[in-house]
Amino acid sequence: MTPEGIDALIKELSAQEGFADYGAAIASPLEKDIARLRESIRDGFNGDMEYMARNIELRENPALLLEGVKSVLCFLAPYKPSERQSGIYPRIASYAYGEDYHKIVRDKLYSICTTLKSRIPDVKYRVFCDSAPVMERAWAAKAGLGFIGKNTFLISKRHGLHTIIGVILLNKEVIYGSSVKEGCGSCRRCLESCPTSALLEERRLDARRCISYQTIESRVDGSEEANSAPSDCGWVFGCDICLEACPWSSKGEPSEWKEFSVLQHGENGGRITEITKEMWFTMDQEYFDRWFSKSPLKRADLIKIKNNML
Ligand code: SF4
Ligand code: SF4
Repeated sequence: MTPEGIDALIKELSAQEGFADYGAAIASPLEKDIARLRESIRDGFNGDMEYMARNIELRENPALLLEGVKSVLCFLAPYKPSERQSGIYPRIASYAYGEDYHKIVRDKLYSICTTLKSRIPDVKYRVFCDSAPVMERAWAAKAGLGFIGKNTFLISKRHGLHTIIGVILLNKEVIYGSSVKEGCGSCRRCLESCPTSALLEERRLDARRCISYQTIESRVDGSEEANSAPSDCGWVFGCDICLEACPWSSKGEPSEWKEFSVLQHGENGGRITEITKEMWFTMDQEYFDRWFSKSPLKRADLIKIKNNML
């Protein structure tokens, strides 16, 4: 099949699976992005996320992940919620209202790969979604799906910021996108709105100061870094402040993926966006394990969520 034929097939399959957008980049090493990653690690910005410092050569060169790789295919999974959680409840990031995206996006990418394999028998592929060895945002920007904003998000001019990036490495040539013009201009809303000054100039993020890192990844309690978030910041899992501050976040339609609709918990079907502080504090592990098994919140665990409220 020609690159044009493969491109047309992937676009069709991407739309069938409900992805908001698709683009591809040539699988050449990511030199500039890796240099920036090395700088962040040198400065300790990765905090407890030691995995970021491992396997950097795999992240730089996709040929080490898939022999004979030619293309990096990038897909945008739309998760924009149709409603915003009320500030009266302990806040959770909007990507965590529904089911954990990792499996959902990967399953859809595997479905695309299965069809590709049936049509192109010698095709080889690998699938990634938020996996350590692939710099999804850098690839999506190279593929022409958006630009990297000062808040470090991939920003799609059509679909905004509420997207998850899924990646397929492929041993076939396809049609490649070209980079999108930067769209921040003189805006600094995200930098000015970040309550912990975690966003730095030149699109750098000091994860140690970021509420999202502190409420999910950090295993340090009561340290200086944990205390850099105001105790009344209201976020118990993730943080959407710099996402919501961005004017581009008005782009994109509410997601139609049923998996991303607000999860319910308990026999009476309470919404996970409407759990009060008291309910969190009195919740036991058995209940959490039972009703949050599909939720991204299980990544932090109940004890951490309770600690985040203290
Ligand atoms: S997620 Fe929150 S804490 Fe982290 S950089 Fe954005 S505004 Fe700052
Ligand atoms: S808030 Fe402004 S500066 Fe920040 S990413 Fe959005 S457009 Fe860029």
